[in-house]
Parts: sequence; C-alpha cells; structure tokens
Amino acid sequence: MNVHEYQAKQIFREFGIPVPNGKMCTRDDSVREAAQELGGDTWVVKAQVHAGGRGKGGGVRVVRSLEEAEKAADDILNMRLVTAQTGEEGREVRKVLVEEGVAIQKELYLSMLVDRASNAPVIICSEAGGMEIEEVAAETPEKVLRETVEPNLGLRTYQTRRIAQALGLSGQTVRQAGKMLSNLYRLFQETDASMVEINPLVVTESGDLIALDAKLQFEDNALFRHDEIVALRDIDEEDPLEAQAAELNLSYIRLDGNIGCMVNGAGLAMATMDLIQYVGGSPANFLDVGGGASAASVEKAFRIILADPRVKAILINIFGGIVRCDRVAQGVAEAAGNVDLKVPVVVRLEGTNAEEAREILEASTIDFVVAANLREAAEKVVSAM
Ligand code: ADP
Ligand code: MG
Repeated sequence: MNVHEYQAKQIFREFGIPVPNGKMCTRDDSVREAAQELGGDTWVVKAQVHAGGRGKGGGVRVVRSLEEAEKAADDILNMRLVTAQTGEEGREVRKVLVEEGVAIQKELYLSMLVDRASNAPVIICSEAGGMEIEEVAAETPEKVLRETVEPNLGLRTYQTRRIAQALGLSGQTVRQAGKMLSNLYRLFQETDASMVEINPLVVTESGDLIALDAKLQFEDNALFRHDEIVALRDIDEEDPLEAQAAELNLSYIRLDGNIGCMVNGAGLAMATMDLIQYVGGSPANFLDVGGGASAASVEKAFRIILADPRVKAILINIFGGIVRCDRVAQGVAEAAGNVDLKVPVVVRLEGTNAEEAREILEASTIDFVVAANLREAAEKVVSAM
C-alpha cells in the first residue's frame, strides 16, 4: 500500500525524522492562509499523487509570494500531471502540499527496502541525489552504496558511519545522519514498511539534514495489524478496478494486454498467462478468484473483467476441485446474461461436474466457446479476437 508524501512526512515526524513544515490543501482550502501560517518568504507547492517524478512533470513549484503560491496551487490542482510513472494519460491532482522552502546545499539519495535476495532490509544511498537512482546505478555504480542490515542485530553504528561517509557528510551532520538512520530503521520495522525512499535527502545551507521528499510503501500482508495506516488509504489514487477487486477479496492485477483472464488458483493463473503469451496473445490482467471460487465470486470477477475497456476477449479457466464446475458455469452464464456482452468468451472447465458445466454453457443463450483443455483454450481465445 502506498501513501501520499504529506502522509509519509507526518509519519516521519512521529519517528523523529526531520522534514520541512507543511500543510496539505485541497481545492476547498486557502493556500494563501496555509502559506501565511507557515511563514517565511519561500514556499514549495507540490502535487500529491501516488507517482514520482513530479518535479520534471511540473508538479513541484517554488514560489516567493502568497499570490504566487495561490496561483501555483491553482495551476497544479487543475492539471493532469504526467510523469514518467503515470503513463501518458496522466493523473488528476486532488491535493497539494504547501511547505516551507528549504535552502539546499546538497541533494542526496537514501532508501530502505526488503531485499529478497538476502532476506534482509537493505539501505541504499548515494551522494548523487535528486535524480533517478536507477540511472545513477547504471551509469556510475561506484556512487551507490548498499548496506544490508542483519535483522537479528539491527542497524549497527559502523554501518551508519559507512553510510554517512558514502554520503560525503562531515562534522555534526554525521551525528544527525546516525540518528536519522536509526529512526528510519525503527519506522521501517514498526510500521511493516516494505520501502522508504527519501529522494532527495538534503543538507541545508546551515548544515542540517532534512528529508525533502518522502515515499513510503507498506507490506499489504501486514496491514491487518496497522489500522492507523489503513486509514491513510486514498482510493482515488488506486486503479478503480483493482480497488474494487480488493474489496471483494479477489487477487486482481491489471496488465497491458487485451485478453481478460479469470482463473482459480494463483499457480493456474500464472500458467494460463504463460500459455496465452506462448500462443501469441497478451493477458489484460492476472485474476485469481481463489481455489474455492463460488458462483457469486465468479460473477463478480467476471464483471470486473468486463469493466476493463481494453479487454477484447475473455478466457475463463477454472479447475473444479473444491468448487463444482456446474456452479461456476451457472455463475458465468448468469453474469454473462446480465451484462451486454460484446467480446468472445472462451471457457475451459475441468474437474468435478465438468460435463454438467459444459451442458449449462451450451444451453445458454450466450455463444460461449468451450475448450477441452488449456492449450486449446489459449489458442481459441487468441484466434477469437
Ligand atoms: P519528485 O521526486 O516527485 O520530483 P520531490 O519532492 O523530490 O518530487 O521534489 C523535486 C525537487 O524539488 C527536489 O529535488 C528539490 O530540489 C525541490 N524541492 C522539493 N521540496 C522542496 C522544499 N521544501 N524546498 C526546496 N526545494 C524543494
Ligand atoms: Mg523526489
């Protein structure tokens, strides 16, 4: 789960990680009053969307008067923000963060994430901040330090010193870095974060360390013990179909292709997607309705697939083990009858009561394409398009 920068910065504050003072504003709030309250003579108005690269896309503006702040917020709240991470359709901006402008001496990079290869948290840092770390890593890998944290020992002092050195820090800033890193590690553990990224982490003109940007990602499987984090969810920022599927407890992920897939069991779903690719097609989604899919959940899943305008054909591949195929067929036939079905639907049902299922589908007024096995189903759905 992702949160906005303003929410991540609030969590940073709670864990003692320095961030600029700021205020989140929607279209209903007075940006002028917010800026006035913050004081100072320089502010930064920042689009709040769940996507990075906002600066380059025009979603971060530095302003030097209250009028300019108002104007910048107005512009940003009325734009569709396009960044490297939003796709070309861009993103509607519903909130901005108005924060005090910081006099920057140096921009650094710092992140912490779970490294699957070493089964441990890893801290990645670089003196080359403000730009994309992937680029830095590709072009100047010597400028990137990876420090693996042994989970049973926690972050050690020698490691924070090594990081401070890699960041080119000196004097009292080194001590600030030590404190920041141990607070960050505590945040990472206590909130069950899967990723924290501060890009840029800056050294100010006065030599203080402060997080200018904040990206936080939480492990979905641990959200059950973090009501306070779940409360930060912004449904507007999520793919509407994915959000709908999550509410129905379906594992659904949108992909780039055009063949909608409905499968029970994650392994079978992966195999189905592989086979579609193998015969020259491209899946529009991953969807696991669960091993014990009921007719009702099949119907809901079917509706979600149909709501995706890119879907040009559907492949339903259900193995009736816990669930009976005839029940699934009933659900599919009913769902298809209740919507205006414009795309071909290929169905492969195997397992308990497969024969009854086939009869139900063939008796239906909908022209289902019935396939006898998975290979045939994949070929039929590709040629049906
Ligand atoms: P993004 O990564 O989405 O582009 P950032 O928060 O990193 O957004 O902002 C982009 C750039 O804007 C930063 O690298 C920094 O130079 C500048 N910036 C952001 N916030 C502030 C601030 N409070 N004061 C001064 N400059 C800022
Ligand atoms: Mg950034």
